Amino acid sequence: MSRYWSPTISQLSPYIPGEQPKVDNLVKLNTNENPYGPSPRVIEAIRGSADDSLRLYPDPTSTGLRETVADYYSLTPEQVFIGNGSDEVLAHTFFAFFQQSRPLLFPDITYSFYPVYCSLYGIDYRTIPLEEDFTLNLGPYTQANGGIIFANPNAPTGCLLSREKIEQLLSHNSDSVVVIDEAYIDFGGDSAVKLVDNYPNLLVIQTLSKSRSLAGLRIGLAMGSRDLIDGLVRVKDSFNSYPIDRLAEAAAIAAYKDDTFFKKICLRIIESRERLNANLQALGFQVLPSKANFLFASHPKLDALTIAARLRSEGVIVRHFKQSRVENYLRITVGTPIQNERLITALKQII
Ligand SMILES: *Cc1c(COP(=O)(O)O)cnc(C)c1O
Repeated sequence: MSRYWSPTISQLSPYIPGEQPKVDNLVKLNTNENPYGPSPRVIEAIRGSADDSLRLYPDPTSTGLRETVADYYSLTPEQVFIGNGSDEVLAHTFFAFFQQSRPLLFPDITYSFYPVYCSLYGIDYRTIPLEEDFTLNLGPYTQANGGIIFANPNAPTGCLLSREKIEQLLSHNSDSVVVIDEAYIDFGGDSAVKLVDNYPNLLVIQTLSKSRSLAGLRIGLAMGSRDLIDGLVRVKDSFNSYPIDRLAEAAAIAAYKDDTFFKKICLRIIESRERLNANLQALGFQVLPSKANFLFASHPKLDALTIAARLRSEGVIVRHFKQSRVENYLRITVGTPIQNERLITALKQII
């Protein structure tokens, strides 16, 4: 606390990002980064843009990238919004649509940044408990609300909600904005982007940080009706007109253009996930079915914090959340086959 802080910021409880360790011989399975680097064409694009033009501001509307994304998903550029990481896109989304007289609804177990944005912007919210098996029951989402947001696949569980259920949710809530955070959709889910033309209340948010290996560049996007996108642009242009720099935009365009590389890497991670899941189960772990690049697992004999601490002393870091219902779970990012092997070897000694 400081006497210089405004009352609002004195009351915030900010999001705590996963550790980025200073030593580099650790097996880092704690923040869901991609274990593979970006396409070589992405690196070429960055090199190609590193010239005198950096003295100029970037395109404030990221037109080139919006056209590329629109082309990729069969949308128009007016249906695409670009931001500095999807966390920034989420922040603008909360500010633009969720400050309502009725509460925002989201699951009790989900991306822990959502309540942080609510406290930042003074948004009233209600959490809806997931079922015992961590699946989402649509029932409670028919109550009057000022918006709905959830991650699909969900974080940190990895569970996927079907397209049919998403459509039901959208039709039942035509008066509120429904936001689907698809940070992990490329690892086996079916994107709701295809529904954007039919549901003007749908906003789909994605990121290049996970499946496209660009967490270090900070690029996120939203796709939805012109109405919703225009709302986001109003917030962006009242905050920071140039969220994406020249190098990041060139890199992002190149990432979408090298679809062969992208698909190959996603498939590799999906295959590793299934192998890792089987190996964890063989060690006695209960593992939730995951369509993401991570697994959410608990062990009946050893508590999660103990396992995490012992893994750390073996040079492997995973993520633990101090939250009721999931405090005995670990979220484990799927690594390369060699990293996953090091994890399993360490776990064999611990258990
Ligand atoms: C990683 C993640 C984000 C943030 O992604 P950035 O684009 O890197 O800011 C958003 N939502 C969920 C559910 C995530 O896991």
